[in-house]
Amino acid sequence: MQSIRTTLPEELAAILVDELGEKKFRTAQILRWVFIERVESWDEMTNISKALRTKLAERFELSPLPIPEQHLAKDGTNKIAFKLEDESVVESVLIPTEDRLTLCVSSQVGCKFNCAFCRTATLGFHRSLTADEIIEQVLVAQKAAGERHISNLVFMGMGEPLDNYDNLIRALKILLAPECFDYSRRKITLSSVGHVPGLKALAQEGLGINLAISLHAASDELRSQIMPANRIWGLDELFAVLRQFPLDQRQRITFEYIIIKGLNHSPHDANLLVKRLHGIPSKVNLIGFNAFEGCKFQSPSPEEMIEFQERLLSKGLSTTIRLSRGDDELAACGQLGHAGKKEY
Ligand code: SF4
Repeated sequence: MQSIRTTLPEELAAILVDELGEKKFRTAQILRWVFIERVESWDEMTNISKALRTKLAERFELSPLPIPEQHLAKDGTNKIAFKLEDESVVESVLIPTEDRLTLCVSSQVGCKFNCAFCRTATLGFHRSLTADEIIEQVLVAQKAAGERHISNLVFMGMGEPLDNYDNLIRALKILLAPECFDYSRRKITLSSVGHVPGLKALAQEGLGINLAISLHAASDELRSQIMPANRIWGLDELFAVLRQFPLDQRQRITFEYIIIKGLNHSPHDANLLVKRLHGIPSKVNLIGFNAFEGCKFQSPSPEEMIEFQERLLSKGLSTTIRLSRGDDELAACGQLGHAGKKEY
């Protein structure tokens, strides 16, 4: 049965009018119950007649939201994990700051791209999430956040979002729809390993959300060593797509660059990065690698991070050092994955 949580407003309106013989205005009423009130049963929709609730229950699924396990880190980061029907575990992370509450959303259980510095990669790939499971993460996290509205969404959790394209796009459309979550496209960021076919399709989709690319090295040689995806889509091919990617006037592509001690932060690396990004509206986020058990890489010192940042700044690249939050709960970027245990 089709889930009401992944039915687009125009689809629901058509079903109400053409199949169920109802008025179109019911669409907004029903979707408000689903996404704003976050009800978990049809009976809670008190301004909808019993007859229509019965018809809806026969046509759409509205299941109770999963009950999450929460791990609150000392810095306020809240890692939320819950079991899916097939016993896989999906994780998302709530990251509060003074002026925003960001949810880091997962798109797959595990990941097939096997980046050498990534905790999720140690789990292997299990499966892509359904659109419903992507939306559920937002609903469950909003419930956990209570009164505070989740202001920003980043698709930077487990998995490569563009490797789960159709489900991702459906979920994004629900998140952006004014009748559903009504997120501004400026508040949603999708992070990709550089999945070229997915990026080309996303450019055509015209959703206008923000784009971040996990770059981490500016030469094919080094990037292919630490990110096997680069052997499929090399830097020239990737940057040809990025140069064509539709951005509006103030929009910039974010380039995530995890600094790994002694590996990718030499003056030569900085020069290559500057050359690669030349002419692209961009900003660079430098992230110190977070060491985890079983990984051969080491974290850089603060001085090494600052030195690399200064080299980029001196060449005119907008560059920030991002504090990776939640390290004590293994919830920092590239570190999701249930403490390295294979759970499935
Ligand atoms: S960094 Fe991203 S793309 Fe690479 S293995 Fe981890 S989750 Fe997958």
